[in-house]
Amino acid sequence: MTAALDINVTKAEQSKLSNLNLENLPFGKFFTDHMLEADYEDGEWKSIEIKPYQPLLLDPSLSALHYGQSIFEGIKAYKDENGNPFIFRPYDNFKRFNTSAARMNMPEVPEEIFMEGMRKLIALDSKWIPAIKDHSLYIRPFMFATDPMLGVKPSGTYKFLIILSPSGPYYATPMKIAVEETYTRAAPGGVGFSKNAGNYGGSMLAATVAKEHGYDQVLWTDAFEHKWLQEVGMMNVFFKIDDIIITPSLEEGTILAGVTRSSAITGLEEMGFKVEERKISIDELVEAHKAGKLQEVFGTGTAATIAYIKELKYKDYIMEFDIAALKTATAIKNWLAAIREGKTADKYGWIYKI
Ligand code: PMP
Repeated sequence: MTAALDINVTKAEQSKLSNLNLENLPFGKFFTDHMLEADYEDGEWKSIEIKPYQPLLLDPSLSALHYGQSIFEGIKAYKDENGNPFIFRPYDNFKRFNTSAARMNMPEVPEEIFMEGMRKLIALDSKWIPAIKDHSLYIRPFMFATDPMLGVKPSGTYKFLIILSPSGPYYATPMKIAVEETYTRAAPGGVGFSKNAGNYGGSMLAATVAKEHGYDQVLWTDAFEHKWLQEVGMMNVFFKIDDIIITPSLEEGTILAGVTRSSAITGLEEMGFKVEERKISIDELVEAHKAGKLQEVFGTGTAATIAYIKELKYKDYIMEFDIAALKTATAIKNWLAAIREGKTADKYGWIYKI
């Protein structure tokens, strides 16, 4: 990391923090006093600034709005028991951000701008980090194409920003999930493994239809047979069958490589579970359920950490789970919380101090 990175800092005249109660916050609705903004032009990143949080002035022909070169990340910052701020595994998100950038034909953001910019921004707004259970400061780095021009081609100019949102829990209650058989989130050769904005726009209708039928989200299946399981809403998915943990493998490029997924695999293996990253079909799941061997289903993601699933529906077949019996989901949730709360040593180097 170069210490020479020049970030121009303009402080807000007055903090908005006194107007906000940092308890029981909704997810992603309030933003801190400052943001980071950098511009890419002529092959380099310039004018890296931290400045008061404010609207952007954008040309209506802005390339990102028309052709979707737009990517983002989601990371969380917390306070330790002494009130010192830290970020959880931000380097993994930094790497994934540039994987997304490469797939969307966008320039990479250098490590110094992403990591040092984020560190400086959070240091400045550290008072906004809630010190309450299940609350955190949600960090949203994002980049989009800014050429003011309607020709369809990779933009020559981009903006990179980081904004911060003190937030409460995302999926606070156990979820009901419908297996998706009409819509598709990702196919091999596509962009499913990247965190680009269009993936989320394209997934909303399926979630809306599921809600109309009383379900919270969908379990995505493959594009060809609607049979191979991918992800649950905007989370990676884990199954416990006959005491073995199974999560869909990443190799087809249809699944986002979740940082929480990676942490959960590490933790589950440490607890002594056999974890299989492999293809798994809805038929295997239904058979396991019929045989009384499907013990747990849960989602993993930065927003929720671990999301309990209490019902899974495939066609007319309903699989129900007793939340009190979701022992492994709870164990991994607690294992992760213990590392974050400093109750267990950070032996994997996941805590990034500000
Ligand atoms: N899948 C999708 C589609 C997501 O948007 C997310 C959230 N980033 C995840 C999985 C979980 O990833 P992570 O654990 O890194 O938040």
